[in-house]
Amino acid sequence: MINHSTNILIVDDTKANLISLEAILEGEDLNVMTVSNGNDALKILLKGKIDIILLDVQMPGMNGFEVAELMRANNKTKNIPIIFITAINKEEEYIFKGYELGAVDYLYKPISNEILKSKVKVFIKLNEQAKIIEEKTKALEEKIVQLELTEKKLNRLIRIDELTGVYNRRAFEEIFDLEWARTIRSNGSFSALMIDIDNFKVFNDTYGHLKGDNCLKNIAKIIERTLKRITDKVARLGGEEFVVLLPETDSKGAELIAEEIRKNIEDLKIVNEGVETYEFVTVSIGISSIIPTKFIDKNEFIDQADKALYTAKKNGRNMVYLYR
Ligand code: GH3
Ligand code: MG
Ligand code: MG
Repeated sequence: MINHSTNILIVDDTKANLISLEAILEGEDLNVMTVSNGNDALKILLKGKIDIILLDVQMPGMNGFEVAELMRANNKTKNIPIIFITAINKEEEYIFKGYELGAVDYLYKPISNEILKSKVKVFIKLNEQAKIIEEKTKALEEKIVQLELTEKKLNRLIRIDELTGVYNRRAFEEIFDLEWARTIRSNGSFSALMIDIDNFKVFNDTYGHLKGDNCLKNIAKIIERTLKRITDKVARLGGEEFVVLLPETDSKGAELIAEEIRKNIEDLKIVNEGVETYEFVTVSIGISSIIPTKFIDKNEFIDQADKALYTAKKNGRNMVYLYR
């Protein structure tokens, strides 16, 4: 529940009326304020905090409807519910228009205590409910913002390889699907590099898993840095194997990039002393390159890069091989 009682402002030019209205409302859970003219009423209303106004219609100077008109024109006061008090009988009444439905009511003089109390109670109830709804809406809106943030983080997490920070296999599948389809539409070339670290088992056996993990991170970083276009994407498929997707790149371009990656990794000069043939950690890279059409199986295209990688390994490692 809301823990503040309702603030009610009573506006009437006749002092006796103010006293009797206040007396009727005594005992209810209300903070009652009284003023005797429209100007004073507006001053208090503009300070905020008034939940309901009991407004005499017939007043000298500014009458009740004029006060209401000014209230409606101000954002601070336009939603405060009004109960007009009028001596005019119902047949000739002037209904104040333009207020939100349910925000205006009428009391006719002479005022019945019971009707006044019950009307005020209805407004108090409405006021409390509106505040509860407002608080709940605010809480919900905050929750939604938090959820959206969490969702974004999760979406990122499920697509990123935890160890190296490059894309994982799931993201690779997604990106490959999209880029393959896009390249079919553009009639362009598409290349893929399958990259595998040479003699990595020996490295792990020599230096331990932690050093091995560190080496994987460094190699992932070098591959990322060597790629130039934002459409070039690298993913770790598992173990010590990476794949690079190069949309809109032909075999010549792919060979250049693959060779650059191979050389940059060799240049890291990460010693792998268990291997006699090479002093440092190296990679072998298989390349497949194609102009995709809807008749070509894209898994076949990846198989070709795998086959080229196998040939590079067989021919001596630390080399780039293009599938033909
Ligand atoms: P090749 O030159 O033929 O590729 O030989 P290799 O030793 O690199 O290949 P192999 O497939 O025999 O062994 C791969 C090794 O990579 C096995 C394991 O020690 C290491 N490895 C795979 N995944 C990880 C990893 O996440 N972290 C670490 N530290 N090592 C890994
Ligand atoms: Mg290997
Ligand atoms: Mg392997």
